[in-house]
Amino acid sequence: MTSSPQPTRPPRGAALVTGGGAGIGLDVALHLAGKGYPVAVNDVDATRTGEVVESIRRRGGTATPHPCDVSSEDEVESMVREIVEMHGSLTTLVAAAGISDTVTPTLEQSVDVWQRTVDVDLRGVFLSCKYAGAAMKEAGGGNIVAIASIAGMGGFPKRSGYGPAKAAVINFTQLLAVELAPSGIRVNSVAPGYIKTAMVQQLIDAGRIDEEALAARCPAGHLGQPSHITHAIDYLISEGAAYTTGSTLVVDGGWSAWLGGYT
Ligand code: NDP
Repeated sequence: MTSSPQPTRPPRGAALVTGGGAGIGLDVALHLAGKGYPVAVNDVDATRTGEVVESIRRRGGTATPHPCDVSSEDEVESMVREIVEMHGSLTTLVAAAGISDTVTPTLEQSVDVWQRTVDVDLRGVFLSCKYAGAAMKEAGGGNIVAIASIAGMGGFPKRSGYGPAKAAVINFTQLLAVELAPSGIRVNSVAPGYIKTAMVQQLIDAGRIDEEALAARCPAGHLGQPSHITHAIDYLISEGAAYTTGSTLVVDGGWSAWLGGYT
């Protein structure tokens, strides 16, 4: 048996969580702060960002607020510079900022809704990874986890903006993992099924999706919780996943495993 060099542990700088003001990003931010990470909390909503930071500080954690729109290159570049100045280094990125499209038939979808969805869900991930990745290279290593979706793994009707943007995130995860592996940076993504957050609740309330029908379609029989995604992210950024890069971890209660059938 040959021995191979063990990957070195990336330095533990700040963890940037985009979309950290609500839902999955909020759960991740609180979890990482609880584990001792200095957390840079981003959200487009400045009030929400400040509230999450306060909540982390009240629990004895370290956090700083960085409200900005992840689809704006200038804002993301400034945000990452500010985080490095405040924390010394940035070595973890969880790109959770995202929006849904309006779940509208493709032939009726407006190009403005389509474009905004792609801008936040794909351009936002690209920009976050571009600037955070450069900071991690400077720091000598790091970890990136993007939130994709099972909507990017197959044909979800009425998701002409969201589905293709998420499919692109899965592809981007792979190519960026290859590019950044020599720099000691791992890049993975998580593909959630339906998770009970404000994003999904708004679609339920608007009558765009039906919770009971979703639960019935899902082999697990219910929607997921943000913590189900946090645990997957926790694994992907851990030393236990030191040889895992370019992967997409599906967390969907079995949704995508079942193609439909007669049973
Ligand atoms: P939430 O809406 O609960 O949280 C997302 C957060 O990101 C919100 O605070 C939102 O603000 C913020 N945000 C939106 N746009 C921007 C922006 N341009 N810049 C910075 N922050 C922004 O959604 P979820 O927690 O459910 O979703 C998190 C991620 O998980 C998303 O990428 C989503 O696509 C993905 N996902 C979610 C699934 C689910 O079932 N919930 C399933 C599969 C994937 P605001 O509320 O103002 O929009």
